[in-house]
Amino acid sequence: MNCMEARRMVTPFIKRELSDREAEQFLRHIEHCSDCMDELDMYFTVYKALDTLESGVHNELDFQKMLEADIRFVKRGIQRRKAVKAMRSVTLIAVELLLLLSVYAGYRVRKSESEQNRVQKERTESELAKEESTELNRVQDESTDTNKAQDESTEVNSVQDESTK
Ligand SMILES: [Zn+2]
Repeated sequence: MNCMEARRMVTPFIKRELSDREAEQFLRHIEHCSDCMDELDMYFTVYKALDTLESGVHNELDFQKMLEADIRFVKRGIQRRKAVKAMRSVTLIAVELLLLLSVYAGYRVRKSESEQNRVQKERTESELAKEESTELNRVQDESTDTNKAQDESTEVNSVQDESTK
């Protein structure tokens, strides 16, 4: 910030009309520029003197101290808001991390669930195959039984034939 920019900010600074960013830049400039600091001092005194006249308070006023207090107040405000902003961004990061974690955990759960489903499906398939093979065995057994029965009946027939002879 150059002196011209700083001079333009003197009145807005006194009236607290600057943004934190502007106020910070302005304060940084007047810390190193005694000309602009004098300008601020002068305007501040005039402004406060008028203010005091309007409000009807006629105490002995140390404008220098008032300005110092004002600058300290603005600086503290900027620092406090910065800290709040930093805290908020830390909280935001934490919240984002938590969200990411929960999404990841959800993905893990879904993945293991689908794996379980796959295992169960495989199990039912193998059970089905086993059942099918038992069924097949049973059918085969039955067919052997019928064969046996047929054999037996042929034997009976032949015995009957022999007895009729
Ligand atoms: Zn300057």
